[in-house]
Amino acid sequence: MGTHFITDDCVACGACEPVCPVSAISADDPVYLLDQETCTDCGACDDVCPVDAIKWEKTEG
Ligand code: SF4
Ligand code: SF4
Repeated sequence: MGTHFITDDCVACGACEPVCPVSAISADDPVYLLDQETCTDCGACDDVCPVDAIKWEKTEG
């Protein structure tokens, strides 16, 4: 299990939003928002972010 999240490094380029298979990412101000309830931790958004603003944190259990 893990948790994906978007950090303040996000430059709101929008690249991550269309690649998410479950539409967990949406535009927000000042940085994009990743809905952790919807996210399946597939990692697709992580691969396309040009500034490496999408991080993944491993959780126990
Ligand atoms: S890890 Fe996958 S499911 Fe989660 S926000 Fe990124 S693209 Fe969507
Ligand atoms: S791809 Fe990265 S910089 Fe672009 S909107 Fe998504 S999190 Fe922000």
